[in-house]
Amino acid sequence: MPIQSRKRHRTVPVHIGHVVVGGDAPVVVQSMTNTDTADIEATVRQIAELTEAGSELVRITVNSAEAAASVPAIRDRLDGMGIDTPLVGDFHFNGHKLLTEHPACAAALAKYRINPGNVGRGRKGDEQFAAMIGIAHRHDKPIRIGVNWGSLDQAMLGRLMDENAQLPEPREPTEVMQEALIRSALESAAKAEELGLPHDHIILSCKMSGVQDLIRVYRELATRCDYPLHLGLTEAGMGSKGIVASTTALAVLLQEGIGDTIRISLTPEPGGDRTQEVIVAQQILQALELRSFTPTVIACPGCGRTASTFFQQLAEEIQQHIRRQMPSWRHRYPGVEKMSVAVMGCVVNGPGESKHADIGISLPGTGEQPVAPVYVDGKKTVTLKGEGIAREFQQLVDEYVRQRYGR
Ligand code: SF4
Repeated sequence: MPIQSRKRHRTVPVHIGHVVVGGDAPVVVQSMTNTDTADIEATVRQIAELTEAGSELVRITVNSAEAAASVPAIRDRLDGMGIDTPLVGDFHFNGHKLLTEHPACAAALAKYRINPGNVGRGRKGDEQFAAMIGIAHRHDKPIRIGVNWGSLDQAMLGRLMDENAQLPEPREPTEVMQEALIRSALESAAKAEELGLPHDHIILSCKMSGVQDLIRVYRELATRCDYPLHLGLTEAGMGSKGIVASTTALAVLLQEGIGDTIRISLTPEPGGDRTQEVIVAQQILQALELRSFTPTVIACPGCGRTASTFFQQLAEEIQQHIRRQMPSWRHRYPGVEKMSVAVMGCVVNGPGESKHADIGISLPGTGEQPVAPVYVDGKKTVTLKGEGIAREFQQLVDEYVRQRYGR
C-alpha cells in the first residue's frame, strides 16, 4: 500500500517561525540541546550542529535568569551565521517569572514549552500558567503543552483516582494514570484558549517511557482533539535500547497517521554525538517512506559467503561519504535524497538487489571471481576489479549524482 494513502489524523497547522507543524505539513524533526543555555558559545555551536544534521526546530532549556538573558544573544548569533532554525524554550517551575522579566527572551523564542505538572500548585499554579499564556498571546507565540509521565499533575491524578474508586467496576490504576495525562493536556489547552490563546497556537504532547503506554495514550489523544501532536518516548535510554524503543513506539503511531513532529530522546554516551537523535528521527521517517532526507544505502548483512569485511567497510564508507556530501548535494542536486545505493556481498542476492537500486555494486564472495559488477538504473555498466574498487565505486556514485540530479 503506498504510504501516502495512509489516513493522517487531522490537525490544525501551527506556525513556529517559518516551520509549520500539523495540517498537511510533513512530520517535523526536532531535537534538544544538552548544553547550559547560559553558555552562549556552546549552545550556539550545538544548535548549529543539530541544524546541520537536519533538526528543523531546536529546544533549549530556559531555567535561570542567566539562561533567559542568553537567549536573545543566541538568536542573534545564529541569525548572523545564516541559521534560521526556530528555537523553543523549555520552561519548568519559574517560566512565568523568566518570561516576564526577560521580554527579549520571550520575543526571541519561537515557541514555549509548558509542562502543566511543573507550573505550580493550586491558585498560584493557575496564575503562573495564565502569566505564561498571556506572554505567549502578546508575543503571538505558539506553545506546547508538554505533559510528562514523570511530572504528572498530582492534583489531577488524585481527583481521577478518587472518581475511579467510586465506579462500580474501577479501572486499572495504569489506565487512570493514562487518562490523567490526556486530561491534563486537554484541560490545559482548553484553559489556554479561555485565556485568549488561539486554537492554532497549541501543540500537545503526553510523553511516557513505556512503548505500549505511549501508543495507547496517543491513540486516545488523537481521537479527542485536533491539536498537532508532538511524539516522543521520554527517557528512551542509551544506545540501541533507546533507538529500538523509540522507533517501535513512533513507527506504530506514525503508520496510523498520528504525530506531526517527533523528537528522539536518546541519552548520549559520554562524549557521544548529540546529533544522533536527529539522524534516528530522520531514519524513522525515511524508513516509513514519510519523508526523504538522505540517499538510502542498501547493504546485505554478510554471511559465511563473505570471507572478509571488505563489503561492510565499503558500505560504511559510502554511507559516510553520502552523509558528508549531503549538505552541499541537497542544494545542488534536488531529489538526490531519494537515491538508493546497494552494496552487496556476493552473487546470491547481489546482482538482483543492485539492479533494483539506482546504483549498486555486487562484491565477490568467497570463492567467486574477484570482480565487482556495477549496475546503474538496472543495467550492468562496468565491472571493477583490483585494489581500487572502493575509490572507483565512490567516483561512480558521484558521477551518477551529477548526471541524474544536476540542474
Ligand atoms: S548477498 Fe551474499 S554475502 Fe550478502 S548476505 Fe546474501 S548470501 Fe550473504
